[in-house]
Amino acid sequence: MEIRVVRDVLEESNLRAQENRALFDMHGIFAVNIMSSPGSGKTMLLQKTIPALTERGFSCAVIEGDITSTIDSERLQPLGIPVVQANTEPFGGDCHLGSHLVQAALKQLDLSSIDFLFIENIGNLVCPAEFYLGENRRVVVLSLPEGEDKPLKYPLMFRECNLCLLNKMDLAPYLEVDVELMKSNVHKTNGQIAILPISAKTGEGVGEWIAWLLHARGGQS
Ligand code: MG
Ligand code: ZN
Repeated sequence: MEIRVVRDVLEESNLRAQENRALFDMHGIFAVNIMSSPGSGKTMLLQKTIPALTERGFSCAVIEGDITSTIDSERLQPLGIPVVQANTEPFGGDCHLGSHLVQAALKQLDLSSIDFLFIENIGNLVCPAEFYLGENRRVVVLSLPEGEDKPLKYPLMFRECNLCLLNKMDLAPYLEVDVELMKSNVHKTNGQIAILPISAKTGEGVGEWIAWLLHARGGQS
C-alpha cells in the first residue's frame, strides 16, 4: 500500500507538469527551470539575463520560488516584468518547487505575452532535481566558492540538467579553486551537459548564456 501511495503522488506531480508543458507549448513559451544551492547567484543571473532578452525584443516573466520570503521578487521588481512569488510555506514548506505550485503561479500570468519564462527554484542542490515542472530546459548554477567537489556530491542535479553555469568567475583569482577540475567533475556526472563559465556580476559569459537560450528556444523540445 505504501508504495502505491508514493507512486500516485509522483504520477499526480508529473501530470501537473505535463499540463504546464502543454500550456507553454500552446502559448509559445520557453520555460527554463533554474536550480542551484542558496547564494550561487540565480537572482543576479536573472537581473542580467532579462534586460538582455528584453533588449532583443523578447518578453520575459519569472516565477520566484522560495520557502517563505519575497526578497528575490523584490530584487526583480525594477525590471518591470511580471514576477509571481511561489512560496511553499503555506503548502507545508517544501524545499523545492512542485508542479502544482507552478500551475497555480501560471494562473496569475498573461501567458499569451510571454516568450521566456524563468522559474527560479528554491536554493537547494538536492531535491529540486527530482521534480519535473513542465520546463523546456533545466539549468544548474554552480558558483566557484562552492568548491570542485559539488558535482560529485550532488550528482543527480548535474545529471538532470542541460546546462551548468559556472558562476562567479570574477572570484577565480581570489579562490583556491581549480576551475578545470570543477568542469571535469561536472562532466564526470553528465557527459552531455553544456558548461558555460560566467560572472553575472561583471557580465563575463552572459552573452554566451543569452546565445545558448536563444539557440535552445529556436530548437525547442
Ligand atoms: Mg535567489
Ligand atoms: Zn525538497
